[in-house]
Amino acid sequence: MDASWKPGVRRTGIMGGTFDPIHNGHLALADAAYRQLALDNILFLPAGIPPHKQNRSDGATPSQRMHMTRLAILDDPRFSLDQEEMHRGGVSYTKDTILRLKKSEPETEFFFIIGADSLMSFDTWYHPEIICGCCHLAAAVRDDFPREVLQKKSEELKKSIQASVVLLDIPKMDISSTMLRELCQQGKSIRAYVPAAVADYIEKYGIYGGHGQNEQL
Ligand code: ATP
Ligand code: MG
Repeated sequence: MDASWKPGVRRTGIMGGTFDPIHNGHLALADAAYRQLALDNILFLPAGIPPHKQNRSDGATPSQRMHMTRLAILDDPRFSLDQEEMHRGGVSYTKDTILRLKKSEPETEFFFIIGADSLMSFDTWYHPEIICGCCHLAAAVRDDFPREVLQKKSEELKKSIQASVVLLDIPKMDISSTMLRELCQQGKSIRAYVPAAVADYIEKYGIYGGHGQNEQL
């Protein structure tokens, strides 16, 4: 698959994640992808229950994760929310979502945006070859996995599952949702790491062990 820009062909990024909670690292990754790949739009896709996070009890509900994602991208016309996985319920697999999107827009060129860590473990995902049959992978280069390592991995994936990988340069942002959940549990502020509307929502409803009102979702 050729990732180069072609006249008249729509280019859509897919930003998947648990978003528990969504944070500035996710938004910076999406912004870098939008600019460096000349995308027309990006769909944010909060996972229903990701297979590798089924047994976690300290997280937000699927509905809360979706609300936080909506709040984070509300003011940015480049970004929109895809709620399909949430509504489907149960364990969600990326390959089903990508197949659905490709089927509904066969002419669109899709770029699945992932962090370096996700590229390194990509071959352990469920049917990665199906994902790669429908879209390019756009993987962020970060200090923890230097460009040479990611280039080598991209070559391997190209041989094994015909992956088309584009590497993105992104600013280093030492933020993870895990770190933010821990800060909340310790009663510390996470305002420096998430959009204000997301911080307000987390505080208001006391998500992640804070002391807020209870929202029945
Ligand atoms: P957790 O700590 O719960 O694993 P996370 O911060 O990694 O959460 P996810 O929702 O798992 O967030 O990540 C969605 C995507 O965003 C993944 O591809 C991940 O690699 C990428 N990502 C997460 N944090 C960053 C960051 N700080 N900079 C760039 N990419 C990131
Ligand atoms: Mg992660």
